[in-house]
Parts: sequence; structure tokens; C-alpha cells
Amino acid sequence: MTHKQIQTDRRIRSAFTAGVALLLIGVLLGPGRVPVAQGYNADATTAITGLTQHSSFHYEMVRVLALLAGFDKNEAEEIGVAGEAVDLGQFTGYKFLGSKAKTVTIRNTNRFGPNGRLYHFGRRSSQYEKVDADGARSNTCEYFKGGDRTSPNTAPCTVKGPELDQIKNWAFDLPGPKPTANELPRDASGKPIQPKTPVAIGIYVHSIGDSYSHEKCMIDAAFRFHKPIPFSCNTQWHTDPVRGEFTVGIAFTKAAANEVWRALRQFKGADGSNPPNFIKEFLAIKDACTRVKFAVDTFNSLTGETSKGIRCPGPSGTLGKSRRRG
Ligand SMILES: [Zn+2]
Ligand SMILES: [Zn+2]
Repeated sequence: MTHKQIQTDRRIRSAFTAGVALLLIGVLLGPGRVPVAQGYNADATTAITGLTQHSSFHYEMVRVLALLAGFDKNEAEEIGVAGEAVDLGQFTGYKFLGSKAKTVTIRNTNRFGPNGRLYHFGRRSSQYEKVDADGARSNTCEYFKGGDRTSPNTAPCTVKGPELDQIKNWAFDLPGPKPTANELPRDASGKPIQPKTPVAIGIYVHSIGDSYSHEKCMIDAAFRFHKPIPFSCNTQWHTDPVRGEFTVGIAFTKAAANEVWRALRQFKGADGSNPPNFIKEFLAIKDACTRVKFAVDTFNSLTGETSKGIRCPGPSGTLGKSRRRG
């Protein structure tokens, strides 16, 4: 081939590559192309709650634990709403205090953005509870020893140590490695979120939950993202009522809830070694609607909130049982 032919060939090839890349970006980010649920599959659906589809663990459970840990109801609501906003970018909770619902916006933590692995697929040191499951390690960096450094999904922990510990150092304003300025969560106006605020605590407890809900995939595949196979890496892991994180993965979910509790208590300067019974009761409910309803009813009875409860179909449904008001 002549020099000119090679050049033309190269130009065609790079134009093709750019085209494919653009197409991929379009498919991934195009407005409305990928419904939120497809990349997320949270258990608390709009049909159940009337809110944007979300996770009963990150919102409904966390705000009850925050109340029990000693936060007031405004702070507890903000912690829960912020926790969910880490996934959705923006989240609005239930109608609150008989008036407007709380909305929290969090930027720079998107799962598909540059900090997705930091906030949603963080690894932990042994300062956190080890999961009672086959192959589980206390320091979850160990799954990635010898991992391929060229791929962010498989690379070992860096010299800064496990990501969850870094997020804690930021959220609690502790000494030690923290996320860089480019990695910090930001508010709606683009300003870094301040540590030691309810929103910062909400972000940290979200990352605690995710470090456990994505751990089975780390054990099975030494992988820090979602992919279809193995099932522990599939997004369905979060919601599947038979082989997901509320059944076969319950050991992970339980340790996660215990650590969320411990973090909330620690922030309050209180002993977090004794998780409340609420955790056990909440995790024992395998039906998503009944689980959400239980947490909402608990929150409402602890706060005197009068937002109408959740109504679930079926025998465990609420037509007879729910507190109907107004
Ligand atoms: Zn997440
Ligand atoms: Zn996930």
C-alpha cells in the first residue's frame, strides 16, 4: 500500500471507531433510552410507594435506623433521602410533616460516572463486620489481589486503601486518606457537600450498604460493576425474591444493616454494638411491598407522622390491617 492509501485507511478506521464510540455513548446516556430501573432494579417500585423506584434498604430502612440512633425526624428523613439520591442523582421522599416532601440532589456520585466504583463498589478494611458467608474476607481488598490493573473493574486497592474507609474519613472529617476534590460529592449548585452533615452521613451509609450488596460479586468474580453472569453480579441480585440479597444473600444484607447502624451511632458518639430488633424484623420480610410497608409504618409510629401507609395486595395486604387515615 502506498503511504496515501494507509493514511486513508487509517482515517476511515478512526472515523468508524469514533462512530461506534458515539453510538455506545448514545445508547448508554441517551435521554430515556435506558430506564433507571434497568441499571438498578430497586425493590421499592413506584406501584408500591408512589415515589420514584428506589431501594427499601437505602431509604425506608435507613431513615428508621437514623431515628432509632438518635437523629431527629428531620435529620433522619434527610439522611434517608440523601442515601437514595446517591443512586438516582435526585430523590424526593414521602410527604413529610404534613407538608412538602424532602428532595436532595447529589452530583458526582453517579454509578456510570467516573466515581461510580468509589461510591457504589467500595472495598472495606477489617474495621467493618465480616460477612458470615463462604469465601468472605474481612478486608475486601483481598478479593482483588493480583487483579488486572488495566481494568478499573478488577484493579487491586490503591495505596490510599479501601474506598469505604476513605469515604468515612471524609464524612466524619477524620484524619487519613480521603476522596480527592474531583471525587467529592457535590450539591445541586456544584459545591462540595460538607462533611458531618446529614447529607454526608447519608452518602456514607449508602456506600456502606453497597460495599456489602456488591460483595458477593467480588467474591465470585473479583469484579466491581454489574454484569449478567454470575448472578451475584447481575442487577437482579438486588431484587430477586428467591436468589437475591434478601434471601441467599441475606448474610451480606444483615452485615450491611448492622454497619449502617454502627455508623449512625458512631456519628452520635454512642455505642453501636447492639443493633435494634427492627433490622432483624425488616430483613425477615421477603415480600418487597410488605417490607416497605413495615418500615414506613415504623417510621410513622416513631415520629407521629400521618402520611398514609403503604397498601399491599394479597393475603399479607393491608386492607384490613393498614391504618387508614382521613
Ligand atoms: Zn449505589
Ligand atoms: Zn448494584
